[in-house]
Amino acid sequence: MIVPSRITDSETPRYSFVIPLFDEELALPILFHRLGQLMETLDGPAEVILVDDGSRDRSGILAAGKAKDDPRWRYLALSRNFGHQIAITAGMDVARGEAVVVMDADLQDPPEVVHDLVAKWREGFEIVYAQRVSRAGESRLKLWTASLFYRLLARLTRVEIPRNVGDFRLVDRKAVDAFKAMPERDRFVRGMFGWMGFRQAAVPYHRLARVAGETKYSMRKMMRLAFDGIVGFSDAPLRLVLWLGLAVSAGALGYGGWVVVLSLLDATLVPGWASLAVILSFLSGINLITTGVVGLYVGRIHNEVKGRPLYVVGRTVNLDTARREAATPVVESALRAGEAAR
Ligand code: UDP
Ligand code: MG
Repeated sequence: MIVPSRITDSETPRYSFVIPLFDEELALPILFHRLGQLMETLDGPAEVILVDDGSRDRSGILAAGKAKDDPRWRYLALSRNFGHQIAITAGMDVARGEAVVVMDADLQDPPEVVHDLVAKWREGFEIVYAQRVSRAGESRLKLWTASLFYRLLARLTRVEIPRNVGDFRLVDRKAVDAFKAMPERDRFVRGMFGWMGFRQAAVPYHRLARVAGETKYSMRKMMRLAFDGIVGFSDAPLRLVLWLGLAVSAGALGYGGWVVVLSLLDATLVPGWASLAVILSFLSGINLITTGVVGLYVGRIHNEVKGRPLYVVGRTVNLDTARREAATPVVESALRAGEAAR
């Protein structure tokens, strides 16, 4: 199948916007408008990669339609819902800009802030993240759990992961290439950029409420993200288990000594069933926790060892000719498979 090239391949965009979206039909028309306006004010050509993370509503139709109308907009649909972090990764894989901006589809990240990100990039920073100084329209529970999580993460890991920073950021081509070379499956994108080094800067902004629709981050997805952050960037849980084991052994040793002394003092002592039962159940509890934590890491090893691609591409619009050289081999074959399926 020969697909006519609708974009001039020689023109590499200066800016790529990567927009993961999952059931955002209500927000998309507003996004198209606001992002379109922003692109007019940038100092170079820009492209937008709409990554459809398995939407079940009309998002796919809207986004693909936009890509058909406007050659600067591209549509990449994953074959199912792979999750926000993987959707970002898929977009990064095909983005060609000198700077790549990751932004949510719900306009909680105001497009105007991109000007500030770009200004910092021009000063020479390779990673410019937008830092929330306030968050509107979030539940108390979300704010509280988020702040708890970031404090915990900061204590547990030695990697610099800035607080109150989501995935809204601008990254230079150098950092994008470094990111593409990180094949890990359980991805915590903000941690991966923290790990990378480079010159990093923060731009403060006020995070707004969603323009439309509801959050797509269920409690389950949020817990998963938190686990990916902690287990992916820290071995503290493993160390904790070791200390727990040591503490319990020390306790058992002390108790053993106490029992010996007792039996020496009082020959008629009847060994208590209750204390035995307590010790036994306590120890098996510790055993289960330990196995569970170790299992968490082993599960991840299993996940990595399978060596599957991170995602599967379902369908693309406007990405046919442009992305060959940019994509990693795995992505390229996935793209070809997606094209053949059309
Ligand atoms: N999203 C996604 N896949 C998912 C969940 C969310 O691509 O499985 C997208 C979603 O459409 C949005 C962005 O990721 O553009 C952030 O999600 P959301 O706004 O629901 O999260 P919140 O801002 O509430 O934390
Ligand atoms: Mg949101």
